[in-house]
Amino acid sequence: MEHDKVEVEKLPMCDFCRIEDGVENPAQYDGRTIFGRWSSMCDKHFEKYGIGLGLGKGQKLVLAVNEDTNEYRTENKPNREVV
Ligand SMILES: [Zn+2]
Repeated sequence: MEHDKVEVEKLPMCDFCRIEDGVENPAQYDGRTIFGRWSSMCDKHFEKYGIGLGLGKGQKLVLAVNEDTNEYRTENKPNREVV
């Protein structure tokens, strides 16, 4: 099992974008920060505040997709998708 990547149905928002800039920006990473707590982070803030990837450090968030068709698995469709 990989420890540096996690599949999610929906990306959370970056905690730092919201706190520092007041904007909603999808997070690409979930990990421990230099402050010691875990946060959702976008690319920019992961570089700035993240301590790395791996067990106990951080994980890259990827949307769950079917590797063969490159489409969202039916049981994992993002909530925002309108049928
Ligand atoms: Zn951010």
